[in-house]
Amino acid sequence: MDTNELMEKANKSILYTSKKPDIIMQKGKGMYLWDTEGKKYLDFMGGWAVTCLGHCPDVMKEALINQGSELINASPAFYNTPLIKFADLLIQISAFDRVFFTSTGAEANEGAIKLARKYGAKKLNGAYEIITTINGFHGRTLATMSATGKKVWEKLYAPKIPGFIHVPFNDIDAVKKAINKNTCAVMLEPIQGEGGVNVANVEYIKELRSLCDQNGVLLIFDEIQTGIGRTGKMFAYEHYDIVPDIMTLAKGIGGGYPLAAMLTREELNIFEPGDQGGTYTNQPLGMAVGYAVVKEILGKNILENVNIQGDYIVEGLNGIKNEFGFKDIRGKGLLIAVDLPCDNAVQVVNECLEDGLLLNAPKPHTLRIMPPLIVSKEDTDEMLKILNGVLKKVAG
Ligand SMILES: *Cc1c(COP(=O)(O)O)cnc(C)c1O
Repeated sequence: MDTNELMEKANKSILYTSKKPDIIMQKGKGMYLWDTEGKKYLDFMGGWAVTCLGHCPDVMKEALINQGSELINASPAFYNTPLIKFADLLIQISAFDRVFFTSTGAEANEGAIKLARKYGAKKLNGAYEIITTINGFHGRTLATMSATGKKVWEKLYAPKIPGFIHVPFNDIDAVKKAINKNTCAVMLEPIQGEGGVNVANVEYIKELRSLCDQNGVLLIFDEIQTGIGRTGKMFAYEHYDIVPDIMTLAKGIGGGYPLAAMLTREELNIFEPGDQGGTYTNQPLGMAVGYAVVKEILGKNILENVNIQGDYIVEGLNGIKNEFGFKDIRGKGLLIAVDLPCDNAVQVVNECLEDGLLLNAPKPHTLRIMPPLIVSKEDTDEMLKILNGVLKKVAG
C-alpha cells in the first residue's frame, strides 16, 4: 500500500482521539525518524521524552530478541529472572526498597494512589485525600485524570474520582492550608512536564518534605517524565536532597517499550493479596528491555551527556533569545522549555515538522525540547538551524 492508501485507511479505521499530521512514520535510528515517503526528521521530542537511547538502539533490539527467544510471558503468578534482576538494579540505584511494575505511567500512578489510600486506611484512620498541584499531569485513567490539575479536564468524564485537592505549584502555604485529617498524601511532579516545564523550587520541596513528615502523610513524586536521567540525575528527587515515600517511573524507563514502575520504601510494603496486580505486571520481555536500558544509561555515562548537552541547548537558545524575543528559557538537563513572545508555538512546531524537525508545544506560547539522552552538539546545531529558519519565517 502506498502512503495515500494507508492514510485513507487510517482515517477510516482508527478511532479519532487527536488531530495528527498526514505522515506515517516507518523507521527510526538514533536521533532520526523516517516516514513512508522517505522524509527524514530530526527528533527533539523523543516520543514525548520516551526514546531515551534514541530510536532502535542495539541494546534494546538485542534484549527484545534474546528475551523474546527465551520467555515472553509466564503469567504474573510467577517470578522470572529479568524481573528479579531489574528490581534489584532499581533498588540499588535509588533510595527505595520495593518495586511494582506496570505497563503505563497512569497505571503506576494508580498504584501510588492505591498505596497512599491503603496507608491512609491502615495508619491514618481512613484518610484518603491526596493533595496535587494545579497544572500538574498524572495520566489519562479516571483516577489519574482526577489527580491531574488541568483546567480543561475539570468537567470531563464527570463524575470525577473524589479525594483530590488541587493547590498552586511551588506554594507551600497552599499545601499547609489544604492539609487536614483526611489527607493521606501529597502528589506532584518535581518538574511539571505537560504543564510547561515548571521546575519546583528547592525550598518548596524541602518544606513539603518536612510538612508531610510533621503530618504523617506520604510524599509521592511522579517522575514519569523526569526519572531515568532526563534531568541530568538518575531521578529528579536527587536535585532536592530529599527522598519521597513513593516514586513513579515510566516513559524513559522502557526506552520506547511500554513499561512503568512504582517504587517505595520497606515500611510501605503493605499491600495484601488481592489489593494490587495486573496481567502484565513483571512480564519478562519488558523487564529485560528495562534492565538493558537502565544498564546502558549507567554504563555509558549518559547522565554526563545529559548535563553537557542540556547546557549546550540552553546556551544556543540564549544566543537567539533577544533576536526572537523569548520570554523565558527554563528546565533541567534535557527537559527544556522556551516561552515565545506570542501564542504561536503550535504554528512553530508545525513549520518545524515541515522542515524535518520534531518539537513539542505543551502550551500555546511554549516550546518543549526533550531529545533522546544521546543527543550530540551536532544534532543541537542542526536543530537550532532549523528552528532559527522557522522563527524567522513565522515572525516575518
Ligand atoms: C506521561 C506522563 C504520565 C502518564 O503516563 P502514560 O504512560 O501516558 O500513562 C503521568 N505523569 C507524567 C508526569 C507524565 O509525563
